[in-house]
Amino acid sequence: MYKPMTEYLDFGAGPISTKAELFLLKQRRQSFIDTEGGPLFLGIPDRWLDNVTFRCIHGHVSKCILKSEEQGDLCLACYGPVLITFPEDEEQI
Ligand SMILES: [Zn+2]
Repeated sequence: MYKPMTEYLDFGAGPISTKAELFLLKQRRQSFIDTEGGPLFLGIPDRWLDNVTFRCIHGHVSKCILKSEEQGDLCLACYGPVLITFPEDEEQI
């Protein structure tokens, strides 16, 4: 039986579509990390950790997140998974 490519990706919890979106967000973020350079801590530029900002898979940007024991860090607006992003990141509506 045919399986979509995303079914083989295992990034975090949640339905397959969420995993694919998280994968894309991670790829996007990595391009910003590569551009940024400078010292990293756990793969994140130090500068980003001085002023932590989060972006969720649906494009919400916030300084506040919901801490969930089962699902990790979640967006307060949509409960989607979030990643740390660069401090100047802005929500694009
Ligand atoms: Zn969100």
